[in-house]
This record gives sequence, C-alpha cells and structure tokens, in this order.
Amino acid sequence: MAKHQGAPMPASLRHAFRARAHPARSVPCPHEPCHARAHQSCRVSVNGRVLKQPHDSRIALWARITACCPECQVDPGTPCHTNGLALPDVHPRRIQEAKETLA
Ligand SMILES: [Zn+2]
Ligand SMILES: [Zn+2]
Repeated sequence: MAKHQGAPMPASLRHAFRARAHPARSVPCPHEPCHARAHQSCRVSVNGRVLKQPHDSRIALWARITACCPECQVDPGTPCHTNGLALPDVHPRRIQEAKETLA
C-alpha cells in the first residue's frame, strides 16, 4: 500500500542511460594514454580491452563542456574552481548536472 511509487522519469532515465552509450563518448578522451577519439570507446591501454564506462577524466571533460557547475557557478566550457583556483577536475555535482541537462 505505502509502496513508494517515485517519479517515473528518473527510473526510466537511469535505464536509458545503461542501455545507451555513455554521453561522455561524444568528447575525445583526455586520459593518458587512452586518447579515445570522439564516439570511440575507452580502452585499457595494457590489453586493449574496451571499458564499459569512459575514463573519469573524460566524463569530467564532458561535464565541463556541457554543463554549468552548480557548485562554483561557472558556465559550460569554464573549468571548475575553488577560491579562484582552477581545478584540474570538476565538482561531482557538475557531472550530475550534465546528466540531467542531457535529459
Ligand atoms: Zn579513455
Ligand atoms: Zn564546479
């Protein structure tokens, strides 16, 4: 009776996410020495095995290009920063934001 119905959207989204290729594949992978080109899968350099998930740095790059950061309030394309110092990575919330922006 009290079973939580939830919003149908997030669930179906998560499903679509798993079924489809990761959206971060639309950007080239900056990870050394992977450097997968846009729309190519990331691979493990030592054995050439295809990774299910793109490298973290690729996901971060994708989030940086596609989303504003809710954490440090920068526009798409601008690196994240803390106290005026640019971060090599992005805030985790920005990755979340990118996934939601895509939907
Ligand atoms: Zn990669
Ligand atoms: Zn940020």
